[in-house]
Amino acid sequence: MKKFENDCLKFLLKMVSTPSLSKQEKAVSKLVAKEMKHLGYDSVKTDKLGSVVGRIGNGKKKILYDAHIDTVGVADIKRWKTNPFKAVYKNGVVYGRGSCDDKGCVASMVYSGALIKKLGLLGNFTLYVSASAQEEVAEGYGIDYVLKNLGFRPDCVIIGEPSNLKIVRGHKGRAELKVTAVGKACHASVPEEGENAIYNAIPLVKNIDLLNKKYTRLKQSELGNPVISVTQIGAENASTNTIPDNCSFYIDRRTVEGETAKKVENEIKKICGKRAKTEYIKKFFKAWILPKNHSLLKSAVLSYKKAGLANKSWRAGSKNPEVVLWPFCTNGSFTMGEKHIPSIGFGPGEEKYAHTSNEQIRFKDILKSIKFYSAFPLTFSEKS
Ligand SMILES: [Zn+2]
Repeated sequence: MKKFENDCLKFLLKMVSTPSLSKQEKAVSKLVAKEMKHLGYDSVKTDKLGSVVGRIGNGKKKILYDAHIDTVGVADIKRWKTNPFKAVYKNGVVYGRGSCDDKGCVASMVYSGALIKKLGLLGNFTLYVSASAQEEVAEGYGIDYVLKNLGFRPDCVIIGEPSNLKIVRGHKGRAELKVTAVGKACHASVPEEGENAIYNAIPLVKNIDLLNKKYTRLKQSELGNPVISVTQIGAENASTNTIPDNCSFYIDRRTVEGETAKKVENEIKKICGKRAKTEYIKKFFKAWILPKNHSLLKSAVLSYKKAGLANKSWRAGSKNPEVVLWPFCTNGSFTMGEKHIPSIGFGPGEEKYAHTSNEQIRFKDILKSIKFYSAFPLTFSEKS
């Protein structure tokens, strides 16, 4: 097993040292395809966005694993203790951009396919491991394309994103909108001849805050309450001595299950009035939640136990895995939110390290997640 573990570590280090900002995944996608072929995947395909899908087995139950290969950029390199694009392995921890979000999960999923073959954990299932592109710019975009190319609906999906080895059964959705208040431009020396769009925007911004306060008083759904915030504001103006005729502010809206794009837009339009223009600047990402008694969840819990992750040695007194909700949005918004394919989340790594400087992941957690990912397909195919 030592060689297997070392190979997996080497693969992860290579991926982290290969920058792959969204829409620039080509090099890393080649690396993943090469590794899958080397590990004996039954087929490996790369689509035009750069997502790689490897197949193991040929059975009835179709299982899709998905983790994304793109990463966010680096805002302030001075905050990093190591070069973010040169992986460092020290005291059991891998450092570098993408180590936690989401290349650790990619390595785990890719290697679980290899372990399934190695240990003969094959059954009446086909496992597809997707290392998908462009998740960071638009959750669902890369995976949508992957599903279209597969040409069928999988029986279930596991989203590999950092969950600190907890099982995840849903998360809020999100939307980004822009509201533009209008006015009439004129010289700032005679403001009464125009209409200041900034002054028109301010009460609307306050209304958004009031709407958020209203949400906090709503009866809580399992995912919590809807949340709405203004995150940026500005006027496009010819000069600083002109009264602006436009003022736009940006809204981040977190949704709960059942909320639609239209509902979200209408609520904002209602409080911003007809004179302001409300528009989506990012697609609407749906919230989703898998029912507590869903058979997929049962299979996941059983796989977790089979993988030995519920042993005392791992966490004293904890026999069952923790089942939680993710605070952030993932490709699950598409697979379960849009397409209603039963999905769960599971992955190594702590979400607090995602998108931050000194991003990191414990390698032993990757090994644990490989056990889970390799125990799952057989369990799922036998149970459901
Ligand atoms: Zn991610």
